[in-house]
Amino acid sequence: MLFIGGLGGCSAVGYAKALNPELFGMERIAEGIYVDSSMSDEVRRALVTNVAEARSRIAEVYGAAVSTPDIVACSTQSCFESFGGGRQRALAFGDRMLLSPRGSTVHMVSHEWSHTELSARLGWLTRWVLGDLPSWFDEGLAVAVSGEPMHSEEVWRTVERRALPRPELTELMSNGDWSRAVVRYGDVQAAIEGNPDHPMVVYPMVGHEVRGWLARNGRAGLLALIERLRNGDRFDAAYRQPLPS
Ligand SMILES: [Zn+2]
Repeated sequence: MLFIGGLGGCSAVGYAKALNPELFGMERIAEGIYVDSSMSDEVRRALVTNVAEARSRIAEVYGAAVSTPDIVACSTQSCFESFGGGRQRALAFGDRMLLSPRGSTVHMVSHEWSHTELSARLGWLTRWVLGDLPSWFDEGLAVAVSGEPMHSEEVWRTVERRALPRPELTELMSNGDWSRAVVRYGDVQAAIEGNPDHPMVVYPMVGHEVRGWLARNGRAGLLALIERLRNGDRFDAAYRQPLPS
């Protein structure tokens, strides 16, 4: 769920391994999908189905999937860690995603795919050097695409009802901001515990924001926003009014 742009947060060794997973004992089970040898046939079949479903979800929101990320899926935590994973369920870096044993769901694959899709559409220079896309939008869009139950509107209503502490969007600008916030507000712990009494806060919050924005602006608004960012517009202006009035 944490998006790794360069090598920050993800071990360089693991990253290098994911560039060529077959060299490190992973088996290719379909175009662009690599799994460890101990993954059962049942889980392999489910993964291939979930990847196809995730592609449809990307197409529903973006119109089409222009990115075709390589997917490295681990059935053991030690495999996941050997590729640079940690406490996350899944992560994306460059045009690849790495799935933990709990990360092969259609929700998680769709979430990570949204990161690679947005990055591919913006282009590396706009995403990581020239542009000012905030983490909260990248994550909120991934949440909106994924339909992950732990990030749902229902969870957001619980957060609001209980008046749980939450950050401002302006505190979620960089990847570093994001990584700190998901620890501070309990999202990382909630993912580990899976206890509905301790809901996630930050993911449902940004999901709520971007779901509302998508409902108002639609796919046309999303594509216009991406186009404007590619053309060098600042995020705030493009987000406020993506389409000409
Ligand atoms: Zn994410």
